[in-house]
Amino acid sequence: MSKPTKTAITPTRAEDYTEWYQQVVKASDLADRSPVRGCMVIKPWGYALWENIMRVLDGMFKETGVKNAYFPLFIPLSFLEKEAQHVEGFAKECAVVSHHRLEKGADGGLVPAGALAEPLVVRPTSETIIGDSFSRWISSYRDLPILINQWANVVRWELRPRVFLRTTEFLWQEGHTAHASAAEAVKRTQMMLDVYARFAEEFLAMPVIKGRKTASERFPGAVDTLCIEAMMQDRKGLQAGTSHFLGQNFARASQIKFQSAQETEEYAWTTSWGVSTRLIGGLIMTHGDDDGIILPPKIASSHVVLMPIFRKSEDRTNVMAYVESLAKELKEKIYHDRRLQVEIDDRDIGGARGWEWIKKGIPLRVEIGPRDIAGDSVYVGRRDQDHQTKVSLKREYFVEEVTQILDKIQQNLLERALSLKEEHTVTIDDKNDFYDFFTPQNTEKPEIHGGFALSNWCGVDECESKIKEDLAVTIRCIPLRGNTPTGRCIYCGKPGESRPVFAKAY
Ligand SMILES: [Zn+2]
Repeated sequence: MSKPTKTAITPTRAEDYTEWYQQVVKASDLADRSPVRGCMVIKPWGYALWENIMRVLDGMFKETGVKNAYFPLFIPLSFLEKEAQHVEGFAKECAVVSHHRLEKGADGGLVPAGALAEPLVVRPTSETIIGDSFSRWISSYRDLPILINQWANVVRWELRPRVFLRTTEFLWQEGHTAHASAAEAVKRTQMMLDVYARFAEEFLAMPVIKGRKTASERFPGAVDTLCIEAMMQDRKGLQAGTSHFLGQNFARASQIKFQSAQETEEYAWTTSWGVSTRLIGGLIMTHGDDDGIILPPKIASSHVVLMPIFRKSEDRTNVMAYVESLAKELKEKIYHDRRLQVEIDDRDIGGARGWEWIKKGIPLRVEIGPRDIAGDSVYVGRRDQDHQTKVSLKREYFVEEVTQILDKIQQNLLERALSLKEEHTVTIDDKNDFYDFFTPQNTEKPEIHGGFALSNWCGVDECESKIKEDLAVTIRCIPLRGNTPTGRCIYCGKPGESRPVFAKAY
């Protein structure tokens, strides 16, 4: 039995945050490496998390009138060429299919053959191919709005992949809507951003800042990109979701036209919006500790693990009967529109069993041995508390209170994340202070430094890119609220135009 004396994960966050992340993913059983670099195998414990994310978000989308559909994986190359900025933005990371079969080569190995007349691009995003459908579905203002979402995989060739955060293939949802007026499309862009922000805070316990991207960070082809930005525990920013107002750019490219009520021919106004499996990376870095991940109960892969303890082999029948009847009772409880998910782990592997569940981040661990049964009680550990903190609760009380206990964990995780964000969000008006703030040597733990700096900006690209060059710090967003400039540009000293959030980011 290996009993960790310090922490379950080495190195700790403070020692090496980047390596901590890799080790946590490994220990949590969320994902496995793939034989293809940049891709990932999502294991059942990780996929259950994604399923819960999908289920909740899907419900939220449908409440706003969105319907699901599915579009092809392959996009004709000519489609991508239609929108100039779009193709420029994605050209460098496209996977291209150029052949349609394999043949035996000269050395006996297989080689691609049957060159396609027009190469196909594996979708990096689907504006162009969905636009093609929209152009045929829409002819009159009466056909609008069209509100579509698809759950799919996309491929963006990634040179420096990191599991969940940046992978060549990832899973996501992409919403695509078409409207008769700019105002309506803008409203939809904002509405979906609000959905993402609410989901992040209420379900992922991940506080976010709603904001607008600068021109240089905008989605290729968009008129306006809104985003939610979260702070990770190493104080870097993570873009957790984006919602784009595409104006009429893609409607022009795909000929999405309609006859207006005044019988004039108009281009539609479109939007697109998405979140991906990157959210799981965000969850790990928002809540994980030096013992592993911590899953917020509302989207946790499972809620409770029951761990029977047998001192003597003759205890087994008795203890298992008790555990199974408790599991049955717990599974009848409803926690936020979902039946309570209960695991029974009766493996006889000593202390390693409890540690596995700690590393996997299950919200509640319950130990049940003959002595607990004699007192009709259970021994409960919460993942948001120290692993040694366990309490003995009467069975009846535990069953009665379990959903409230889960809510308390959910709330506690959100509060912790909120206070981290508040503690490390600072207003900086002096250029030297700004440079100091983002210089790792200024801290005992170089891996963890900086934060969100609210500083004035003149609005000129050059200041933005100089800061990026010097410090690897970018404008994460211009917050939708509270962005009024309070002074001069942090870089050039000219009058500020706004007060964005500056940070290092994933
Ligand atoms: Zn400036």
